Amino acid sequence: MAREAKKVVVIGSGPGGAGVAALLQARGYRVTLLERNDFYGGKCWSFTKDGSVVDSGVHMFSMGASGQHGDLNRLVGGDLEWFTANPSEHLLLGGKYRVNLYQSLTDPRGGISNMRTNMRMAADRISSLAGGGMGKELEREVYRASRRNTPLETLRAVAKIARLNPSYFAELDEITLQEFMHRITDDWLPLQGIAALSMLLTVVPYSEVSAGEFLWCFANAFRKHTLGVPRGGSREIPGAFLRAFARDGGELRLGCEVARIAVREGKVRGVETAEGEEIAADLVVSNAGIKRTLEMAGEEHFPAEYASYVNGLKYSCAFITTKYGLDRRVVDLPAPSFFNIPAVDPDHMFDYIGDGGVPEDPFLFTPFPSEWDTYAAPPGKQLIICGVPGPIEVSGENVAQCERILDRAEERLLEIFPQIAPHIEWKMRTHIAHTASITGKPTGECIGLSQCVGQTGAHKPDPWTPVQDLWLVGADAGARGVGTEQASGSAIYVANLLA
Ligand SMILES: Cc1cc2nc3c(=O)[nH]c(=O)nc-3n(C[C@H](O)[C@H](O)[C@H](O)COP(=O)(O)OP(=O)(O)OC[C@H]3O[C@@H](n4cnc5c(N)ncnc54)[C@H](O)[C@@H]3O)c2cc1C
Repeated sequence: MAREAKKVVVIGSGPGGAGVAALLQARGYRVTLLERNDFYGGKCWSFTKDGSVVDSGVHMFSMGASGQHGDLNRLVGGDLEWFTANPSEHLLLGGKYRVNLYQSLTDPRGGISNMRTNMRMAADRISSLAGGGMGKELEREVYRASRRNTPLETLRAVAKIARLNPSYFAELDEITLQEFMHRITDDWLPLQGIAALSMLLTVVPYSEVSAGEFLWCFANAFRKHTLGVPRGGSREIPGAFLRAFARDGGELRLGCEVARIAVREGKVRGVETAEGEEIAADLVVSNAGIKRTLEMAGEEHFPAEYASYVNGLKYSCAFITTKYGLDRRVVDLPAPSFFNIPAVDPDHMFDYIGDGGVPEDPFLFTPFPSEWDTYAAPPGKQLIICGVPGPIEVSGENVAQCERILDRAEERLLEIFPQIAPHIEWKMRTHIAHTASITGKPTGECIGLSQCVGQTGAHKPDPWTPVQDLWLVGADAGARGVGTEQASGSAIYVANLLA
């Protein structure tokens, strides 16, 4: 007699939860996905406003169709489609230099690869990293790259070697990107670029992010040449996974919050919803974040050491945003996204976040969704989303700080593009309270756990937990990469471990 398929409850429909639900359903499990919101997608969600498709956050996807989202979509036979652009980004560096960033960093049209800087760099300074264990191969490459005298060439060389030998990433996980970069150069211009890029890719200041994690993200983004956005807005990433899930017979319940994960004798038994409904399951996979999962299951069911490790984990910073609907298309750039790279001391670029301050010259991450996808705004109109890094705890003080940061960000945006102001039809701010209301947490972090030293690679929380058959999925568990991409990577990893 055929054995009955195992029953799985997935908690949460972010890209990680939606992805693992679709994969497990496709592989023969009976999956029920419970989502507390009335909409799916978690922080990777979009809504419709006055005919525009507006991301709840501010999103671009570093590897597009060639990354983890594309892989997962192919595995479940999904219908996700992508836009890419070349150049993909237009940068204003230090208020002076305008540079187009092409999908390949060394594209000669970009100019960035030719940017000469006065590098104080020696191969031995690099090869002595992490106790000198980087090997001759790396030393030779780095030396050659340093002779070419561009920090980007040097980074590419390190990333290339580390790809060939992933153990280098593990070694680089033990030092911060700031420390690593100062071994390559002390010049502010490249350091400003890398400090900003670290914030963009990991939403962690470069004084904290692990060099290994950053280089992994950086190397893959510029190797795949498919940075982009999905057709129909960010919600289409979890949306495509969930359409495949529904096609394969999975059950999605929106507006269904899990209050408790039932554990008995060290094993998961199911969940109880906020309405008091008990749902039995053989396996529970939680996309609610590692800390919330621990709370829902009850700390008493975990070894004290695990509970204290989880409670000590740190979150990334936040991105806070203003969305602008313009009555016509008034900004015409060579690329569909714009970045302001501040002319400030790179080592202190993001100190304002913790100091309660406001940046004089803010780092602006500004995609123009209607330039990527003309259908993102009504015909002839333009949609702009301007993101800037901010604090995460939702307190009165921080909310007021976010408002001040967004005031300054708007001033700077309108200084750079004065043609925008007379054409603003509507604008809308979404910041930490908004992000926290999506996830149900007291904090509005952007990514999930911080990809700082001590929390990446071998130190990243595993998807399995000490409670039997309770698993984690999403940005908090098991994978490397940029935001949503690590969530989809985690989903693939968890599904492979389970089926
Ligand atoms: C402003 C902003 C900008 C960003 N920019 C980018 C970007 O450019 N590129 C990028 O790749 N990433 C970006 N990110 C990060 C990215 O959105 C997140 O890293 C990603 O969504 C995390 O996915 P996840 O699957 O781990 O879970 P989440 O997206 O956090 O989703 C978790 C889900 O679990 C649900 N849930 C929680 N508790 C319960 C419960 N008890 N019961 C039922 N459901 C529950 C929540 O409602 C939510 O739907 C950005 C995020 C923000 C906020």
